[in-house]
Amino acid sequence: PRPLERVLVTGGAGFIGSAVLRRLLTRPVTRVLNYDALTYAGLRESVAELEANPRYGFVHGDVLDTARLSDAIRRFRPDVLVHLAAESHVDRSIAEPATFVRTNVEGTASVLRAWLDYRDEQTRIDASAAERLLLVHTSTDEVYGPINAGDFAGASTPYNPSSPYSASKAAADHLVRSFGRTYGLASVIACPTNNYGPRQFPEKLIPLATLRALRGEPIPLYGDGLQVRDWLHVEDCAAGFEAIAERGEVGETYHLSAAASPSDTDEWPNRRIVEAIADAVGELQSDGAERRQLITNVSDRPGHDRRYALDSSRAREELGWGPTIELTDGIRQTVRWYAENSAWVAVAEGGR
Ligand code: NAD
Repeated sequence: PRPLERVLVTGGAGFIGSAVLRRLLTRPVTRVLNYDALTYAGLRESVAELEANPRYGFVHGDVLDTARLSDAIRRFRPDVLVHLAAESHVDRSIAEPATFVRTNVEGTASVLRAWLDYRDEQTRIDASAAERLLLVHTSTDEVYGPINAGDFAGASTPYNPSSPYSASKAAADHLVRSFGRTYGLASVIACPTNNYGPRQFPEKLIPLATLRALRGEPIPLYGDGLQVRDWLHVEDCAAGFEAIAERGEVGETYHLSAAASPSDTDEWPNRRIVEAIADAVGELQSDGAERRQLITNVSDRPGHDRRYALDSSRAREELGWGPTIELTDGIRQTVRWYAENSAWVAVAEGGR
């Protein structure tokens, strides 16, 4: 295993990044540097309790700024860089695709450039230490496009992205693999399914539905609500990133998903997710009001994929990773977190 003594995380003020930082700081000696541009989705409040930790550092910077990122890398001297910074919301990518090309494609090219230069410098200083440097890049189940019921996407399933978001993520993955072949740059790709849990920006399905239900407001549901996602709790995902950074084999792609096999038929369409949220809010507020009636069908997202599903057997078998939080419990816990963290919610909603 790699020691993970110094880990630079891009996008650490975001939803998954802040969970990865929290997870890494539970290790006794690991030092982390959070490099984040603090876009609308990046919140200092998501890492506020880490700031007192002397093993935590923060640089306010854009991944597109290669010189600034290079400088942060040279000063911090990480042994692993986990690249999570991205524009992540599919609906925004439909409205403004160019932003997604800039951050996700050009931003990844910039991270690769900075990391390659660092590797080359380190090789001149200490070649055997430089051989252990690792880039962990983040993909998404969406790069494979819709997957038929009963099927799983494997790491060699062809890419078939449907949205500007997933197309930009696919392009970034290709760049990462190309740097492996062209420059021998050591990387692994972590590819998680839909995450949910505390600190997810309230434009995404689960936090949006939760806040609407808590306020007794209409809960929008796209189309027929029968789209199937594989829901992974963000803490399980963060444990997967730690395992990949520590023990992942260079050049591999590790899928992280909740379902263990394609015959796992306990799939939750979006309608069942929002019903579970409405029920969890009902339990919490215990006023006897029926919240499922708040669910309101709205017209479907264009290009909306029907189903995503990943084969995560490599991560399970090679890394001993597996999810630990069951979906019903995870939704209850998440609903409680949003109910109890109105200060975080107010910042995320821009002072609402
Ligand atoms: P998020 O939108 O919550 O956070 C993104 C973070 O990146 C924010 O802190 C933002 O400030 C930062 N950022 C954005 N542009 C930047 C730039 N140009 N320079 C520096 N920082 C920048 O996203 P998330 O949900 O935490 O997703 C993290 C990663 O995981 C992304 O790469 C995303 O594509 C991937 N992913 C997410 C999910 C999911 O369900 N959330 C699933 C699969 C893959």
